[in-house]
Amino acid sequence: QKDVPVTESKDGKGFMGHSMLAPFTAGWQTTELHPLVIEKSEGCYVYDTTGKKYLDSLAGLWCTALGGNEPRLVAAATKQLNTLPFYHSFWNRTTKPTLDLAKELLETFTATKMAKVFFANSGSEANDTQVKLVWYYNNALGRPNKKKFIARAKSYHGSTLISASLSGLSPLHQKFDLPAPFVVHTDCPHYWRYHLPGETEEEFSTRLVNNLEDLILKEGPETIAAFIAEPVMGAGGVILPPATYFEKVQAVVRKYDILFIADEVICAFGRLGTMFGCDKYNIKPDLVSVAKALSSAYMPIGAILVSPEVADVIHSQSNKLGNFSHGFTYSGHPVACAVALEALKIYKERNIVEQIRSISPRFQDGLKAFSDSPIIGEIRGTGLVLGTEFTDDKSPNNSFPPEWGIGSYFGAQCEKQGMLVRVSGDNIMMSPPFIISPDEVDELISIYGNALKATE
Ligand code: PLP
Repeated sequence: QKDVPVTESKDGKGFMGHSMLAPFTAGWQTTELHPLVIEKSEGCYVYDTTGKKYLDSLAGLWCTALGGNEPRLVAAATKQLNTLPFYHSFWNRTTKPTLDLAKELLETFTATKMAKVFFANSGSEANDTQVKLVWYYNNALGRPNKKKFIARAKSYHGSTLISASLSGLSPLHQKFDLPAPFVVHTDCPHYWRYHLPGETEEEFSTRLVNNLEDLILKEGPETIAAFIAEPVMGAGGVILPPATYFEKVQAVVRKYDILFIADEVICAFGRLGTMFGCDKYNIKPDLVSVAKALSSAYMPIGAILVSPEVADVIHSQSNKLGNFSHGFTYSGHPVACAVALEALKIYKERNIVEQIRSISPRFQDGLKAFSDSPIIGEIRGTGLVLGTEFTDDKSPNNSFPPEWGIGSYFGAQCEKQGMLVRVSGDNIMMSPPFIISPDEVDELISIYGNALKATE
């Protein structure tokens, strides 16, 4: 049993001693290291208020793709702030960077043709918008009963009422009276954890997609509006789709006239070594959600991309149904759009996808070399995203007792040695900035190795 450095906050060091109600944080908890107040960032590093430097292996929250001090993004924001800090996009008014970004996004997404972009301020708002748009679409088509969503166990789609309902993680539901009844969840496609003895990845995919079809038939295909999936699941533990999974899922959802929503909030803009997760897994979605790396997180922004077929219905029916009465004051915020436009320009000019492809073997192979550790069940990842799951005896069925806190102990060791990782139970997640250098990858691997040794 490890000595987990979590104690009750009596000295004001935890969030109990601060004014903020912190997201995804237990207020009563503190450690000798927390709360960690970050003051400055530089490339792949952040600094706390004591001046301590950390390699940010999670790129903020899977989002600061261009690192901490990209001058072109700062210049784009400054220029826009000096020209037009705000105007809205309601009632046929908008701004130039908003229109330019919409056009640029449609040109950047090439997995299939997309026709329209709707702007939000976050991934959660983007996914909430997906649900309302799909409901509006089915109302426009005179299908008032086709309203349910299928999402997957362990998925993460956000934390607003609707996006938390879509998510398949129980902490987002328990104590919040969720999920809402229009969401049904299907299997998590984690081969290592859930395959049957002797079952190949292809057979596993077939079994899961048969289960999906059974679920659709049980609920009634006329009641199912859409299926939503992250190409690679992020917060659920970096879970890659098994071979042939998305090919088979797409065939089933098309068969029952169910829309496919790709939640690309983590995967988009290069993270997997392709511009979008849809490119990597040959997904041809009807709707796409993006956020995070869209602006390299320098400004909050999210967006959804809408297929020509769905957009046509929304537009042609709006005289019957009235306005698409949905949107946010900051939908298409000109400063956020100007920054995102510059980020997209940088990704293209610097050929960020190629850059990620060339650095990712060093990152993936270097970390996967620790797979033999007796406390590691599986290390999995692709491109610049990787998850480590601690289990005993290499078995998905031998989780360590949660009170041992193996994951948080490992995370604290990394933090002490100057690296920030994402800890979720006994899952560790890493997704460094796209600009990480070979030397920084080596440093990341070395800290990981030391933290692992201390945890074993
Ligand atoms: N979708 C996915 C796949 C995510 O990973 C996240 C956040 O991590 C969200 C949606 C929600 O995004 P936000 O936190 O910007 O609301």
